[in-house]
Amino acid sequence: MQVYPKIGGEDPSLLDLDPDRYERTNIPAGAPPEQSPAARLHNFEMVFTGYHDAQAVVEATRCIHCPSPEPCILGCPVHNDIPSALLAIEQKDFEQAANIFRATHNLPEVCGRLCPQEVLCEGACTVAGFDRAVNIGKLENFCTNWQRTQKGFPMPEMAPRSGRRVAVVGSGPAGLAAAEELARDGHEVVVYEEWPQPGGLLVYGIPGFKLSKEIADAKCAHLEELGVKFICNTKVGRDIQVDDLQKKFDAVFLGIGAPIGHSIGLPGDDLKGVYQATEFLVRGNLPSDELPEGMKGLPEVGAYIVVIGGGDTSADCVRTARRLQIQHGFPDGEVVDYYRGAEHEMRVREEEYVHAQEEGVKYEFHASPVRFIGDEKGHVRQVEMQKMRSKPADKAQRVPIKIRIPIPGSNFIVPADIVVLAIGYGGDPLIASRTPELKTVKPGIFQVESELNGATTMPGVYAAGDDVRGADLIVTAVAAGRHAAWGIESYLGTLTTRAA
Ligand code: SF4
Repeated sequence: MQVYPKIGGEDPSLLDLDPDRYERTNIPAGAPPEQSPAARLHNFEMVFTGYHDAQAVVEATRCIHCPSPEPCILGCPVHNDIPSALLAIEQKDFEQAANIFRATHNLPEVCGRLCPQEVLCEGACTVAGFDRAVNIGKLENFCTNWQRTQKGFPMPEMAPRSGRRVAVVGSGPAGLAAAEELARDGHEVVVYEEWPQPGGLLVYGIPGFKLSKEIADAKCAHLEELGVKFICNTKVGRDIQVDDLQKKFDAVFLGIGAPIGHSIGLPGDDLKGVYQATEFLVRGNLPSDELPEGMKGLPEVGAYIVVIGGGDTSADCVRTARRLQIQHGFPDGEVVDYYRGAEHEMRVREEEYVHAQEEGVKYEFHASPVRFIGDEKGHVRQVEMQKMRSKPADKAQRVPIKIRIPIPGSNFIVPADIVVLAIGYGGDPLIASRTPELKTVKPGIFQVESELNGATTMPGVYAAGDDVRGADLIVTAVAAGRHAAWGIESYLGTLTTRAA
């Protein structure tokens, strides 16, 4: 394998580039292959269709192999060894590249698609000083998908059976990462999932046009091969309590995420046709047999769909809404996303925002709902909106948030056959309400000793991911799930020592 020697000193300058490295900056960035907007509106398949082998090799060759410490590694929350993986792709050793990503990451094919790379690994990429950053995420997705589909997931080295049992609550990113680490350490792992299928957020929170369901399904099947058992349709806190799990298992991991949609608290928000984002997304994206009772069947579709919010979830909703309109008789319908702040204040990935606009979604900024107006049958028909202006927060405030102020006399009415509320998520308070020993810092957000071990205030109970940090990225949930698994591993070690 060709190895690029480290060059430069403590603060290496781009001028230190050797000729080979400099030559690499002349390789033009390739646009990732995608379905066209016209084609993709007729399906729920992934927009990114994946690199062909040759395209991936060229894209990987754009990496200039920076002198250590490589900025992309530092920019990645799980510190993937990106340069080594890209060198393996360049040398057409896709399996080795995938193994390098898997050494530090439990869900590389997921994060390769869904990380906001522009502010993580690619945001730190030196090549961005010459051209577009190397498409690190899509190369990570390429080689790990290549391995999964051509060779299958590699079987890891497994520790001998420890005789210890661990319950993992939640099969989203943090739960799957913790379950895999714990299974590899030789422990018996049982995962409790409240939805009918394992995969949590990956299945029930992310539309198929961003992440194919088969990726989460395949990962869960692989974990079963490692001995992990999934128990679905079981909500801890409702169907079984943490206290019960403590009696049956040696340790418990809570990775339940932050799944509760914020309430908007406006007149008419209980009208028929007003949906919370999660219900709209799962019913719009998944077949009924994968949904719980009471949430089966498509959501309503109409000519005028209003979405409220300015983040990744609202982008998922508007793009799901456009597909439903095209596929269910409203090809000329309108989907409008109303956001109370300015365009640049939206918390949405640029790629998703561009895709939404390509698919015909309209955006209105500095506009916030005042009330939802229904007809005589109690169904939403209009929304009264109000124009807002942003003002910087008081200087005394430590967080540079903007304050939005309504503009008097600016109200206007818009038509709405349905409304989708995508205004953010918070923790689920149920488990803490049934388990007084578990302290929280806010509803559904557990207090932990440190994010480096995930130890809660209850001995033997650990937590990590969005139920500790609040709604955050998948990759940070994976990183936290790994750390908590290692915290559990050392806790189980103390039990072993005590028993001996
Ligand atoms: Fe980049 Fe995310 Fe992959 Fe890390 S996990 S290399 S941040 S895409």
